[in-house]
Amino acid sequence: MNSSYLDYNATAPLRPEARTALLAALEAPANPSSVHRFGRNARGIADIARGQVADLVRAEARRVVFTSGGTEANNLALRLALEGAGVKSLVITGIEHDSVLRPARHAGLPTYEVVAGADGVVSLGALEATLGAAQAAHPGPALVALMLANNETGAIQPVAEAARLAHAHQSLLLCDAVQAAGKIQVNLSQLDADFLTLSAHKLGGPTGVGALITRDDWTPAPLLRGGGQEKGMRAGTENLGGIAGFGAAAAAAQQGMYGMKTVAALRDRLQAGLLAVCPEAPVYGTGLRLPNTLCIGMPGVPAETQVMALDLAGVAVSAGSACSSGKVTPSHVLTAMGLPEAAAREAIRFSLGWASRPEDVDRAIEAWCKLWQRKRK
Ligand code: PLP
Repeated sequence: MNSSYLDYNATAPLRPEARTALLAALEAPANPSSVHRFGRNARGIADIARGQVADLVRAEARRVVFTSGGTEANNLALRLALEGAGVKSLVITGIEHDSVLRPARHAGLPTYEVVAGADGVVSLGALEATLGAAQAAHPGPALVALMLANNETGAIQPVAEAARLAHAHQSLLLCDAVQAAGKIQVNLSQLDADFLTLSAHKLGGPTGVGALITRDDWTPAPLLRGGGQEKGMRAGTENLGGIAGFGAAAAAAQQGMYGMKTVAALRDRLQAGLLAVCPEAPVYGTGLRLPNTLCIGMPGVPAETQVMALDLAGVAVSAGSACSSGKVTPSHVLTAMGLPEAAAREAIRFSLGWASRPEDVDRAIEAWCKLWQRKRK
């Protein structure tokens, strides 16, 4: 059966450039800490990748710490803020990824949550009021966490303004740019975030590798202790194949950024096709959003039913937040936007990317519309 993969925000297909770099890096013994020629060669590979990843977000290569993914990068950023900067409270948004929400809630610090508007965007006024309340109750610096683009709605957040606000309050800002990087331009100095996190597999690199990029130098407060790899920030022999693949994917994503116009046109064609048949379908995050993402609900039809019908037709998409037990819970992102649980349970996410084709979109439109027509009867 022909199939169409429209779940890039879950994980993007491996780019050919990343595959080549990954396999090449695994050709020889590769421990960048070894002093012999193999070690030096491995270090050279990691250095090239570090530069490529830094270039993608206009950062300095020496500020890149490779991790096992976006989850570890977010956890490490929180750790640095807690241990290194001694923050006294956390101000996070309800639309953050679980890899920010959960460690924040377990950090043992007072944690304040800001909800988003119905458009999926966090309001700066709400953020400022919450930060003010946090500091009034717990004097001292806070850590504000605001992602650059949401994984479910694609809604782009006012990160540069939030960083200005945080800094005016002698606080720090963590920006999870995992979904934004490779889809829109990301510039660390313009965003002025203190911590920025990335994940390779969201932009066509391998899974199991990511990065934390810091604006300043920090005394290491590693999650894993052991060898002094990554300047003491992240112990453990480097995942060189993953790192090389990440670098190559970052370079390819950067070069192919103009291709995102085509992706946006495909996403718009998809949205128009679905709305033509079901005009009452709500679209979530319709303001400024990622060019590849469409979050839409089918009235009265549970997300699982839609995902299964699409899967039977060969189209892969996601529903809300699928938890590890396989049971689909209503998306915490949509509920943090004020959506009633019933509506949140009907929303699914289409996400396109570098290899998406018009026929993928057409197959998705046909399958989703067939289901709607069947259900309407
Ligand atoms: N942050 C966001 C916004 C994400 O969408 C994800 C993955 O879904 C992560 C962080 C976690 O990244 P990783 O899968 O590399 O741990």
